[in-house]
Amino acid sequence: MTGLWAVGSNPEVASPDAPEPFLRIPPQAQIILATNNAHKVQEVLAILRPLIPALREDGLVASQALSIPDVKEDGTSFSENALIKARAVARATTLPVLADDSGLTVDILGGAPGIFSARWCGHHGDDAANLDLLLAQLSDVRPQDRGAAFVCAAALVLPDGTSTITQGIMGGSLATQAAGHLGFGYDPIFIPTGSTRTTAQLRPEEKNAISHRGKAFAELAPAIAAALGHGG
Ligand code: IMP
Repeated sequence: MTGLWAVGSNPEVASPDAPEPFLRIPPQAQIILATNNAHKVQEVLAILRPLIPALREDGLVASQALSIPDVKEDGTSFSENALIKARAVARATTLPVLADDSGLTVDILGGAPGIFSARWCGHHGDDAANLDLLLAQLSDVRPQDRGAAFVCAAALVLPDGTSTITQGIMGGSLATQAAGHLGFGYDPIFIPTGSTRTTAQLRPEEKNAISHRGKAFAELAPAIAAALGHGG
């Protein structure tokens, strides 16, 4: 495939203050994933492709590549933020749009960092600083009180503006020191229930099989399949 084709704004979900969109979407695109993280496309594809045969390897395209301005994630829940991200991209395209929002909830912190997981240390996206701060905050907390969970909300917004939202949870506890080099974020200190290893010590397919993101997108798979025209 060589060319790119342009897609105009979607009147069903457009808002008056949205910038005039003019996207160049690769012709093979079947669905857009609202993310600035190219790694997430691979992770979501690995979860969805076994469940949706109609979804092609190159059919999921990150919004990052489409020059869509960042949207303020000012929701008060994972679900709200996932929907905000998906709707912002859906305003600018006529393809179905997926988005997710996730984070770590720690029991003894009353559910924090929660929606602030990516910027717990005070600035956005510094995984090492976020993890170090959390470990320091919990330094005196006993093993039996270190319960935590990863939570993920996944949203699908269709060209007609209708949306479906699902949520996945992976329960576990927090280690007292980091272990493992796979994954990202808080993975080196998160031990899923029933495991002796952190999620940073699990292979991607092991993590996807039990993860919050794996569960949320698996639950969304029938709606995605239907949106692609091959679902029941
Ligand atoms: P996002 O919504 O997927 O961008 O995730 C927000 C933040 O939550 C990330 O920056 C991580 O700090 C944390 N997080 C979400 N999911 C995971 C995970 O699977 N492993 C480790 N950290 C995660």
